[in-house]
Amino acid sequence: MWLQRLGRVLGHGHGHGHGQGQCRRHLSARIVQGTSIVVQPESESEGREAMTFPGVWLRDNCRCTECFHGSSRSRRLDWDSFDTRVRPVGVRTDQAAGQQQQQQLHVRWSDAHESSYPLDWLRQRSFDGRRQRAYLDEFYRPATRHWAGAEFQRIARHFDYGQVMAEDAALQQWLQALAVYGVALLRDAPLDGGVVRRLAERVGFIRRTTYGEEFVVQAKPGAQNFAYLSLPLPLHTDLPYYEYKPSVNILHCVTQTASPGGSNLLVDAFHIADRLRGERPADFERLCRVPVDWNDIGSEDGREFHNIWRAPVICLDAEGKYTRINHSVPQRDSHFSVPLAEVEPWYESYGRFVRLARDDAHAFKTRPGDVLTFNNIRLLHGRTGYDDTEHNSRYIVGAYLDWDIVYSRLRVLKKRSAAVQ
Ligand SMILES: [Zn+2]
Repeated sequence: MWLQRLGRVLGHGHGHGHGQGQCRRHLSARIVQGTSIVVQPESESEGREAMTFPGVWLRDNCRCTECFHGSSRSRRLDWDSFDTRVRPVGVRTDQAAGQQQQQQLHVRWSDAHESSYPLDWLRQRSFDGRRQRAYLDEFYRPATRHWAGAEFQRIARHFDYGQVMAEDAALQQWLQALAVYGVALLRDAPLDGGVVRRLAERVGFIRRTTYGEEFVVQAKPGAQNFAYLSLPLPLHTDLPYYEYKPSVNILHCVTQTASPGGSNLLVDAFHIADRLRGERPADFERLCRVPVDWNDIGSEDGREFHNIWRAPVICLDAEGKYTRINHSVPQRDSHFSVPLAEVEPWYESYGRFVRLARDDAHAFKTRPGDVLTFNNIRLLHGRTGYDDTEHNSRYIVGAYLDWDIVYSRLRVLKKRSAAVQ
């Protein structure tokens, strides 16, 4: 192992000297164990902690025009001949020409290539756990805050429809609340049928399903879909029978029934899953593991469909975080393609999940002009029954958005507002 430590004394304190004359700023780097590089910033204003970067990662992420295509921000390194044992053979640090503040790391590699990395670029990609957590929770996807039904009034954020349509800051706040809490309400939208489309297009574009782009929820005789009845609608997620399930519901209340019913029911199923995880680990494990067949069979506008997707009620990612909740009694298939011994225990566990959710449901009634938006891969929703008559109807226009599109919009807004500050 050999060390190389080169610092460069920076000029005359440009703005960080607090009137004490010269301020010396260094950036140093050294190779450790032959393969990694430790970068030690010593600036006055920003983090000074040493950062360790594996050589192979640095070489893979070389910023030169041969390795990286700037305008498409894409790696163009030839991986067919990439040597994963590549090693740094020399490091030095200096400042980029003409950029007083921008310090750089330069590396010479065993494959005779040379690379340069700005300190800020390195810092943003530090392998330090706290920095990575902050990036994931603030920029990748906002960390979720789970809530019990009794907390609904405290966590539910309200936004003005007109402001969201006109101001990027309001749009960002709405999408952030939706990401964190899984629900947010817009108020004072006009009562025309185009609101959900305009709102979806303010974010990105509508996610089309079997039932079209915009859909109308009102009592229809002989309805093909259980939601299009005035009966009570038990708690569920929409479209569990799609592998790529629509992620955000937008429900615009145009006309609300005057009958006592027709209330929305909402439950944060991530909270229900948290409770099972803590109180009933065997139920939790079963609901995370046993795949369930979900289906929807019928026709819409003369086109027949036969949708099936198999997935557990609670879906987890590689870190054990919830990725998706599936629950719909009407849309649960009578095919249950699991070993016989799994069936009865699964029913017991599912029964407990359903009861916990029912007991936690928060009921509230939207008014004409309200737009209820919520996360369909996280929340369960339902509706109390109502009397549907000619003079007592309920008319809701809905559409879906996908999280890919919502998160992308949120990141663009965050980057833009951070650049303005
Ligand atoms: Zn390169």
